[in-house]
Order: sequence, then structure tokens, then C-alpha cells
Amino acid sequence: MDLLVPSLPTPLQEISDTVILRAGIRLFIKRDDLIHPTVSGNKWRKLKYNLQQAKSKGATTLLTFGGAFSNHLYATAAAGKYSGFETIGIVRGENPGEKKSSTLKFCEEHGMKLHYVSREEYKLRNSEDYLSYIKQQFGNPFTIPEGGTSEFALKGVEEMTVEVDQQLGRIPDYYAVAAGTGGTAAGILSAGAHVLAFSALKGGSFLENDILNLGGENDKRGQLKLFTDYHFKGYAKYTQELLDFILMFKKQHGIQLEQVYTGKMLFGLYDLIEKGYFKTGDCIVAVHTGGLQGLLVELKED
Ligand SMILES: *Cc1c(COP(=O)(O)O)cnc(C)c1O
Repeated sequence: MDLLVPSLPTPLQEISDTVILRAGIRLFIKRDDLIHPTVSGNKWRKLKYNLQQAKSKGATTLLTFGGAFSNHLYATAAAGKYSGFETIGIVRGENPGEKKSSTLKFCEEHGMKLHYVSREEYKLRNSEDYLSYIKQQFGNPFTIPEGGTSEFALKGVEEMTVEVDQQLGRIPDYYAVAAGTGGTAAGILSAGAHVLAFSALKGGSFLENDILNLGGENDKRGQLKLFTDYHFKGYAKYTQELLDFILMFKKQHGIQLEQVYTGKMLFGLYDLIEKGYFKTGDCIVAVHTGGLQGLLVELKED
């Protein structure tokens, strides 16, 4: 039995409030957070063809990379278990011993073997020499880059845009999406749509090149606009203002966001709407990329 079966298509939910009405735009949330109970959002989309590729190569083990709170490690551990792969996670930083994050605990409970490396070593994660050394060390597993972001990821993300086009009956004027590695933004661009990407990390301007390089040469590629000022002090950091926004958004729209990615993206998007960034009639699809496993406890209350 394949426990990785998704609920597709994920809903496209229109939301409305005074900010949206005043701007005269339409805003839809693509509810990829509902795609699967554990392999959520963009991680499911990005893993789909990575797993297919691993299978077709006859691989039995997946190896990938992430930090102690990585939604991607979490998703890969679950996806591997559900579809019959062994999994190995190369984790940035020292072994936390007793103080293991709930993400890493979940990974271990789902059979992932964790291997901790120094921050210095972790920086080598995309170098070819390092990858062949790692492959040798762990018995030639199928390796998936950090965040699941590979050429195979883009193909899975493109399918999300096909769903949206069908649900909307047109191509949206813009997608809004949070960016960590930029794979999701790159996939949407490759599909030919325009993307507003909101960096979840501080100093995220490097993401512009990363995102454009991921897509490679592609004549139909859409336009990218990257916003780097909505990181709220840095990756996985947050302020009370951000948490208040997330609570308000849930109260108004019944949609739970989290503080690492989707909360920052929607905060930034609302800021742009209020500042008059869009023109009347613009149609925006904000992608709920999931990640709710990492939700802060204080945001879980109703
Ligand atoms: C991983 C993640 C992202 C970042 O996606 P990239 O493709 O790495 O840019 C965005 N949102 C959520 C909820 C995530 O878990």
C-alpha cells in the first residue's frame, strides 16, 4: 500500500477582507498544506519525481540534507517509510543528544538514520566531490539536495500550476510563494507564471540567481520579483508582529499559517497590497506550502 497518496487537486480557496476589497484585487490561497497529512505542501510536490527517479534507478536508500528543524527532512523520512526506501539525513550541526528537536525525533521514529556534520562540512553539500564521498560512505544512496530542490522538484511544482490554471480557468497574474532554497519559486517560473518570492532568510538576495539558475534556459519562463525584507530577523526567527498577523489571519480566514515561511510570505503580500503594489483586477495565487509540523505552540491555540 502506498501511503504517499495525495489529495489532489488541493483546494484553491478565495479569500476576501477589507484590504483585498479596497485594492480591488482577487486573492486565492492554493491549499497545498492539505495535500498529505505528513508530507505536506511543496515538499510532497518536490519529492514526487525525486522518488520516481530513485525507483527507476533501482535505489533502495534516499540520502538528503537539512537542519534540525527542516520540513524537508521530516517529509523525506515519512515519504521514504511510506514508499519503501531507507532514509539517511545529513544534519547540519552537532548531535543534540537529549535536546533533539521534535522534527529530528519524528525522522528517527520514521526510520531515518541521522548523521551530524559540522557547519563547515555542511557547506559542501552541493559540491560534486563531496557528494561522491558521501555516496561512497553510505553505500551509494540516491541523493536529494537540501530542500528537495533538484531538476525533478521543478517538474512536481509545475503540476501545481496546472491544477491552478484549471481551477481558476485562467493563468493568475502572480503567484506569491515563500522561498528557502527557491525550488518552489523556480518550478512555478518554469511553468511560465510570474512569481513574487518572499525570502524566509536574512540576506536572501542570493536567491534571485539561485532561482533563475535552477530553471535553466527556458523561453516560457515567467518574471521573478524577489522580496528580501520580510525575513523578521532571519530564518526561523520571528517577532510579535508576525505572530499577531498569523493569529489575525487565522481568525479572519480560518487558515493556519506558520511562522517560518507562509506567515512571512502572507505578511509581505498584505504589505504590498496595502502599499498599492497591485492594480485593480489583479488575480494573485498565494501558495500555502504547508510546514505546519513546525508551528509554534502559541500559534496552535484557537
Ligand atoms: C521548505 C519550505 C518552503 C521553501 O521552499 P523552497 O522550495 O526551498 O524555496 C516554503 N514553505 C514551506 C512551508 C516549506 O516547508
